[in-house]
Amino acid sequence: MKLANVAGRATVLVSDVEGIDVEKASDGVFGPDLPSIYADWEAFRSWASSASTRSTVPVPRDELAAPSPEPRQILAIGLNYAEHAAESGFDVPDTLPPTFTKFVSALSGPDTTVALPDGGRTDWEVELVVVIGRTARRIPSADAWAHVAGVTVGQDLSERITQTSGPAAQFSLGKSFAGFAPTGPWLVTPDELPNRDDLALGGRVNGETVQDGRTRDLIFPVPALISALSHVVTLYPGDLIFTGTPAGVGHGRTPPRYLALGDRLDSWIEGVGELHQKFTGAA
Ligand code: ZN
Repeated sequence: MKLANVAGRATVLVSDVEGIDVEKASDGVFGPDLPSIYADWEAFRSWASSASTRSTVPVPRDELAAPSPEPRQILAIGLNYAEHAAESGFDVPDTLPPTFTKFVSALSGPDTTVALPDGGRTDWEVELVVVIGRTARRIPSADAWAHVAGVTVGQDLSERITQTSGPAAQFSLGKSFAGFAPTGPWLVTPDELPNRDDLALGGRVNGETVQDGRTRDLIFPVPALISALSHVVTLYPGDLIFTGTPAGVGHGRTPPRYLALGDRLDSWIEGVGELHQKFTGAA
């Protein structure tokens, strides 16, 4: 199943441009908002599996919003691909990978215009984003996928000066400027993916491929990650986990390259879809 947030209304897609309005089709049992659906995920899945597709509504691309627009927590993972750790000048993590947050105010839908912070060095990081569908507390890896509602594409936009300045790294602030957490274009349930543990993902800047990886290369794959995180924090329905970026970020290039005014950034994951960002000057 693909579940979209169309201007605040949960919509089960029947194609990329058409879907079932959940609140109308369920006579108000589910929706219209997305957070209440994640809070009752299993009942919703059960209803959606037999929902009638007779009455559909258009899904305009420019009305798509974040698939999980009000997560209680956004967890983001650093250095989770070996080649990216190497290009960043860090060792590969052996226990818990570096974990930070992207503050919720940075969250957006799939197609946006983002203001580049003045004097900053803003970089790209395409990532598989997991949306939690069932409260997870101290769960084993084998049970992890059962706690996932689905996945979506995320861009972990990162301003490297803020991120790395000061006596200790400032990951959470450097990655939380307005619009720095685009997600979408919709949520895809794991059963719908070609292989939930091995998805191609990548990014293009002005049409040029800059990242091209596969999630099978995650050092901490989704099950291990959810298990490890759930032994520290409780994961709630609707929470997002940005799982880390593959190699090819601008900071790791020689010479380094950062996003500039007028640049276009496309981020994609096989079987899920694409994000599109444009960059302007500070508002
Ligand atoms: Zn990242």
